[in-house]
Amino acid sequence: MEPEINSERLKTLLDGINAFGRVKDGGFNRTGFSDADMAVRDWFAREMEADGLIVSRDGANSVFGRYGAADAPAIMVGSHLDTVASGGAFDGSLGVAVALECVRAMKEAGFAPAHPIEVAATSEEEGRFGGMLGSQTIAGLVTRDWLESAADADGVLLTDAMRAQGLEPKAILSSARPKGSVRAFLELHIEQGPVLEREAIAIGLPEGATGIVNLHVRLTGIANHSGTTPMDMRADAFAGLAEIAVQIPDMIAASGSKDARITIGKVELVPNHPHTIPGEAVFTVIIRDAREEVMRGLQARFGEVAGAAARKHGLSLSIEENSFIAPVAFDAGLIDMLEAEARRLNLPARRMISGAGHDAQTMTALCPSAMIFVPSRNGISHAPDEHSDWADIEKGAQLMLAALIRLSAG
Ligand SMILES: [Zn+2]
Repeated sequence: MEPEINSERLKTLLDGINAFGRVKDGGFNRTGFSDADMAVRDWFAREMEADGLIVSRDGANSVFGRYGAADAPAIMVGSHLDTVASGGAFDGSLGVAVALECVRAMKEAGFAPAHPIEVAATSEEEGRFGGMLGSQTIAGLVTRDWLESAADADGVLLTDAMRAQGLEPKAILSSARPKGSVRAFLELHIEQGPVLEREAIAIGLPEGATGIVNLHVRLTGIANHSGTTPMDMRADAFAGLAEIAVQIPDMIAASGSKDARITIGKVELVPNHPHTIPGEAVFTVIIRDAREEVMRGLQARFGEVAGAAARKHGLSLSIEENSFIAPVAFDAGLIDMLEAEARRLNLPARRMISGAGHDAQTMTALCPSAMIFVPSRNGISHAPDEHSDWADIEKGAQLMLAALIRLSAG
């Protein structure tokens, strides 16, 4: 008997996860180390124990269930159980549910993997404390300094949030998996974008995840009376900002790629008053692309355009780089294998780039990693309206099962 995805069983499992943290607006609150996040992990661990898996937890409170030998290097498969505040029913939880369903299908069919399969339900992926704590712990990327200083938007320290739940934060520093102990990491996740739905393709195979440059920009002119200052005697910081913003499509055309994005997301005008010419515009610029040289090219282009706009409007300009996250490439061999399995199963699939961050990109620091995307209705995520069609989910789960059978067969 060939292992087969049991769609009803998978639905029941996903519903079981989403019984935790449900809120009035229809969304889910399972932020990292909240009571609902702790409770869903206990429940999920009991589910895996009932399946006869070897269940364990690490210092970050990620939960694991192993099918096969206890000590041999494993194929790890999973995603995260935490959500953003008022998040959706699929982000993270779907990948965890699919991982366990694949193992259940194998067990039911009597398929014994030559290499063990380890279901992973990672913790704190959504970055309440500014990282991807679960996968960073597994990959050994958490430093003592970061651990001790990490805090959420309300100023709650990660260490305090963990201790309030009876967890010892220091255990994170000794929870890294040794190199070679994880043969590969696979994660199924919703796309969180509109591309697959628009093209009516059930499966996306990300070749990598975009990097992020975060710039802090300040244009300084002269705040003055909106009535008495003639139009040709102004140093209007907002006019400079507008002149820069309108040229973003040209910057992308000149120096970008199809994956490039530039976003001005947060703006403050000073003094921000209806009757005053803005003396200062302070804003963020986020530049994303799948290739570092393209990101740097766009950053340089942005500097030139901003400089010219500042001169034209009589403004001074400062640009600070707040942070730089390099793009990540997923494992070419795993992507080829997923593509070949999708073809064999007659499942339409397309290669793409992930514009969002995922555990799988952190895991590339430890082992070859790859992902399967399924479509998101209207591209919506991190909101109660988040939805994926069950027909697409089934296809994604079938591909994951086929991939795990291939990888675990030796
Ligand atoms: Zn996610």
